[in-house]
Amino acid sequence: MDNQTEYINALINLHCGLNRQGPGDDEFSRFILSQLPVLPPKPRIADLGCGTGVATLLLAKYYHSQVIAVDFSSDFIQELEIKAKQAGLEDLITAIHGDMAKLDWPPASVDLLWSEGAIYNLGFKDGLQLWYPLISPHGIAVISEMSWFLEDVPEPVTQYWQASYPTMGTEAENIETATRCGFKVLATYKLPSHCWWYNYYQPVRERFKEIESTPINQSVISEMEEEMRLFESFSDFYGYTFYVLQKGVK
Ligand code: SAH
Repeated sequence: MDNQTEYINALINLHCGLNRQGPGDDEFSRFILSQLPVLPPKPRIADLGCGTGVATLLLAKYYHSQVIAVDFSSDFIQELEIKAKQAGLEDLITAIHGDMAKLDWPPASVDLLWSEGAIYNLGFKDGLQLWYPLISPHGIAVISEMSWFLEDVPEPVTQYWQASYPTMGTEAENIETATRCGFKVLATYKLPSHCWWYNYYQPVRERFKEIESTPINQSVISEMEEEMRLFESFSDFYGYTFYVLQKGVK
């Protein structure tokens, strides 16, 4: 196994059993859903980069409609299948172990595309370009993406994110990118910083105590501690923005 694969596996292992694999909040998600234009009855929904499916379950419950969820990690997909059964939602949820960059779905087959904390793996622009054809005319995409909120970002923050996510854009740049890709930007919402702590960083910190103390786990932990230290001091400068996009109306 090469170093990168080993690192990703350690990262996946750290995030197993957690409700979320990235920052987000159920109440905040339901608020966004309440603000969307009316979708067709029984909308066709996809959750891309679903992790263990926190949004998949929420969407299935909210719409009582079919949700297809895709993730690269077979461990996460298995966890989602178990959670769907436990919630009695297994008839509404199809969990697919696959690559969200290589979806061979028919064009215009998704009415609501949801993707939380995952598009950065493809890059915002590439992800939008790949997913655009899948969305039905007037269909909606709700996508959260790490974004810069302010200018004059302090040096340690720029350094860290230059290394971790060099193509991270400002909200204005991302709005421009989405518009160029053919979407109308209906709204943007910043995820409040307390949601990062309560729903993601604190549960991850608890997992630090549970996982085996191997060199690779230690390096994952110190990388995440560094990320958290920066967020603690500088969350005014960056965070997750949810972009609400509509296809085909300019
Ligand atoms: N949406 C979930 C998970 C976010 S973490 C949540 O908010 O909790 C990002 C997820 O994207 C991880 O589960 C990772 O396995 C997945 N991922 C990364 N690249 C992917 C790809 N190319 N195809 C499918 N899933 C991918």
